[in-house]
Amino acid sequence: MTPFQYARASDVADAIKQIATDPSARFIAGGTNLLDLIKYDVTAPTKLIDISRLPLGNVEQTATGGVMIGALVPNSDLAYHPLIEERYPLLSRAILAGASQQLRNMASTGGNLVQRTRCFYFYDATTPCNKREPGSGCSAVDGINRINAILGTSESCIATHPSDMCVALAAIEAIVHVTGPAGTRTIAIADFHRLPGNTPQRDTNLEPDEIITAVELPPKGFSANYSYLKIRDRLSYAFALVSVAAALELDGDTIKDARVALGGVAHKPWRSAAAETVLRGQRADASAFANAADILLRGARGFGHNDFKIGLARRAIVRTLSQAARGTPQSISDKKIR
Ligand SMILES: Cc1cc2nc3c(=O)[nH]c(=O)nc-3n(C[C@H](O)[C@H](O)[C@H](O)COP(=O)(O)OP(=O)(O)OC[C@H]3O[C@@H](n4cnc5c(N)ncnc54)[C@H](O)[C@@H]3O)c2cc1C
Ligand code: SF4
Repeated sequence: MTPFQYARASDVADAIKQIATDPSARFIAGGTNLLDLIKYDVTAPTKLIDISRLPLGNVEQTATGGVMIGALVPNSDLAYHPLIEERYPLLSRAILAGASQQLRNMASTGGNLVQRTRCFYFYDATTPCNKREPGSGCSAVDGINRINAILGTSESCIATHPSDMCVALAAIEAIVHVTGPAGTRTIAIADFHRLPGNTPQRDTNLEPDEIITAVELPPKGFSANYSYLKIRDRLSYAFALVSVAAALELDGDTIKDARVALGGVAHKPWRSAAAETVLRGQRADASAFANAADILLRGARGFGHNDFKIGLARRAIVRTLSQAARGTPQSISDKKIR
């Protein structure tokens, strides 16, 4: 075991001060991802800065009609919060599709945004991996890549972002609030996660000395016509092979507004402005949804084991949009277990 220091941050300013003075320190919130990364020798922080007691645990309405979610709100509390269940049920369903009840009780909103890929080779420190060790190569391209990306890949990395919550946040167009030595700033969720390019070691545009303080949801929650569909190898406790968050605003049968985000297929939640534009003004039917799916999947490329994801994603997009259009009630299989 590599020794490390442990310190609890007394407030947000103290957390930033502590991380700024030690570039190889890491914040720890619920610890459900970071502790695994340490145990697998993927990362070896010199210091863990415990932020779990900071006062970032509220879910509140904003003056502009949206909702502000503190970075330390546990995933389970968020999914079952009345404001989220009523106004942003897409987010609630996406969170409940992830991990297990015990993990959701520990996992924080901020930690979920920064969780790292589940690429097998990333967690196997004996294999080359550009994300873990820049310049060492990518074992997944010619390896077991069943769970890897089909969109937005680069020669350096074909990893996916594993979060369910972030797929719904992308469809809702959430805003991430962060604080660092230079003050506070906001990052649109679309700009928060990065594509791998030639810097796959960087998952997000968060600076190493910045802390996420909150996630803001805009007023529009698409609470009538939404659906989250997660396709995975087991019915629970498994990451998405493909997931789809669909949100529609309908005027009768006509689509006024549409959002579609994909999970399990790229290094970040995947959206296409062109696919959403083509849906607006159309009749909400299978042919419009198939057309949008084709646009969303433009440029998709498999790497052997994951070729199946292209057809799977196409079918999943059409099915999820159809469910959203019908206002199909979401699964009750994962009803509250507290
Ligand atoms: C077995 C298993 C199955 C899982 N299945 C799923 C699944 O199906 N779907 C899914 O979406 N997720 C799944 N997860 C992942 C889980 O949701 C994440 O591990 C969790 O959300 C991370 O939150 P945390 O608070 O525990 O983060 P931590 O482990 O504490 O931290 C993770 C990273 O985020 C950073 N961090 C944490 N908080 C902040 C902050 N406020 N500001 C800046 N940086 C911060 C840490 O420094 C660290 O780098 C699974 C996890 C496990 C272990
Ligand atoms: S896909 Fe990315 S994370 Fe996986 S082995 Fe290649 S470089 Fe590493």
